[in-house]
Amino acid sequence: MGRKKLLGGNWKMCASLRTFDTVKGFKHNFFLNNDTFIAVPYVYIQTAKQRFPAHIKVGAQDCSMFNGGAYTGEVCASMLKEMGAEYVILGHSERRMFLGEESQVIASKIRNACDEGLNVVLCVGECLDDRESGKYLDVIKQQMHSLERVIQGRTNIDIAYEPVWAIGTNKTPTNSQIKEVICKIKAWGKEIGFEGRVVYGGSVSMLNCQTILEVEEVDGFLIGGASQNMDFCMISSELSSAQ
Ligand code: PEP
Repeated sequence: MGRKKLLGGNWKMCASLRTFDTVKGFKHNFFLNNDTFIAVPYVYIQTAKQRFPAHIKVGAQDCSMFNGGAYTGEVCASMLKEMGAEYVILGHSERRMFLGEESQVIASKIRNACDEGLNVVLCVGECLDDRESGKYLDVIKQQMHSLERVIQGRTNIDIAYEPVWAIGTNKTPTNSQIKEVICKIKAWGKEIGFEGRVVYGGSVSMLNCQTILEVEEVDGFLIGGASQNMDFCMISSELSSAQ
């Protein structure tokens, strides 16, 4: 049997303390065969550490490009580690789009997070314009450049392929579209020494997860909306049985 599939949840800035009540239903038997985490807003990391069951690891949605110091409002990787986070999502399209995050900054974040022993999930994915103009593979390859200089000797990095046009839209790519990009990511990754998992993210739901899992190169899911309800458990069960 190969490596476990990865199941990540991303609560974004959509959660409140009440969201933790939902997690009470996230019972162990749904999560037997996957590495599972949920990335919560920074302020909830300690609460997540206390209230998530042991089979759901705590993740953050970002970390600073700095390692510490006089950077008001920033949170560095060592602080996340200290508070019990085990995963961090970096380069999410919402940060690239709304906060102007670029590859160089993302590369520093990856380096800092890996050095602290956090598991990094790097997000890449094209906008609708890139897809329609046929430039999507160039865009994704460009986004992977942030890995080139930091990948050496690091094994705690996975990639999430998240087409921006599929995030929060209920639109999903066809299986051949997913397969094409994931295979390319794996091939490019190999050239630079990346050996991690490549998961799919973008409007994954109970309704489409089985179909997406027919793409055997999909090593798991990153899930936004559906990570705040029982669909997360159902999707996890499907993922477990696809091992
Ligand atoms: C995400 O934001 O990473 C994501 C995949 O969101 P959703 O599942 O809601 O499309």
